[in-house]
Amino acid sequence: MARERIVSADDALDDLPEPERVWDELDNHEQALHEKLRPSRLEDVIGQREVVERLMIALDAARKRSEPLGHILFDGPPGLGKTTFANVIPKEMGTSLQIANGSAMTAPKDILPYLTNASEGSVLFIDEIHRLPMAVEEFIYPVMEDFRVDVTLGDGLNARTINMQLRPFTIIGATTRSGMLSGPLRNRFQLREHLEFYNVEDLTEIIRRNASKLKVGIDDLSAEEIGRRSRGTPRLANNLLRWVRDYATSRADGSINLELARAALEMQGVDEQGLDSWDRKYLQTLIRIFGGGPAGIDAIAHTMNVAVDTLHDEIEPFLLRMEFIVRSPRGRLARQAAFDHMGMQNNLDTDQRRLF
Ligand code: ADP
Repeated sequence: MARERIVSADDALDDLPEPERVWDELDNHEQALHEKLRPSRLEDVIGQREVVERLMIALDAARKRSEPLGHILFDGPPGLGKTTFANVIPKEMGTSLQIANGSAMTAPKDILPYLTNASEGSVLFIDEIHRLPMAVEEFIYPVMEDFRVDVTLGDGLNARTINMQLRPFTIIGATTRSGMLSGPLRNRFQLREHLEFYNVEDLTEIIRRNASKLKVGIDDLSAEEIGRRSRGTPRLANNLLRWVRDYATSRADGSINLELARAALEMQGVDEQGLDSWDRKYLQTLIRIFGGGPAGIDAIAHTMNVAVDTLHDEIEPFLLRMEFIVRSPRGRLARQAAFDHMGMQNNLDTDQRRLF
């Protein structure tokens, strides 16, 4: 059944601020600060206890057998620690790290130098591994299985394939879209770890530790307030901490108290549940334009004028986790909690909406 629009997209969205994330666009200085806050050893990693414990066992076994670690895949929304784990693991193993990105690999020849450069027991981190084209993916299957590559030299009648043996090493893949990974690739990772959003206690601890690294005074209540509003995401916790620090320096003597923290977060448009202007714009669109749904992700993205990937990877996971929305075969649905949070009237419950 075609759903009627309540108001035109432009009218309904006119009064909303342009979405802006505190983590957007880091310059070099920012990047350096970011690196300073990244844990460098497994013992500095906060939260994700089960993942850490499994990694410790795998690392210990590899060390005892003097073998390279099995291949590991990390998946989960941005900012939850995939790159952090990929950096920490080679440090724990006392080995070197190469970093590649799936989106930069267009053909097997692009990944070949990384494979031949890999020293024994080293780590090759492939970020956004779901973006590897099929030809590259198939090329690395024999690498992942028995450290062998088949390279074709020449073409036409002169083409011949040579078989190269590589030194054994570890591939660590990271993806925000594990569903886009093919079965054969996924199955070639011995460990597959899904990173969950962090709870408030862990985020508070991350903020306390990083405040001390940044040499800024912060009381427990303020650390908890920032933690609660960090969307379950350490990267955002770090960025909000730095913003609150700037605010405290500009408006007061530099140390952070609850009043300053709240005022600073308010100024960034982060509400008590941690939703920012992007999240609220999503909920407003789903509720005001699509009457609470069901609405397809393409239609929502088009109306908000953002990429489908941004909604799928960055916005929806947290709204799903907060139970503000559900995904149904017919599209996205707003739950009662979303109507309540946005102060909007809901005329149908979620089950009735599913029938549309
Ligand atoms: P991803 O690769 O999943 O996008 P990152 O590993 O880049 O995320 O994490 C972003 C930042 O968050 C890191 O620089 C680090 O400072 C912080 N961080 C991530 N995970 C943790 C953790 N478990 N403990 C402490 N800090 C963390």
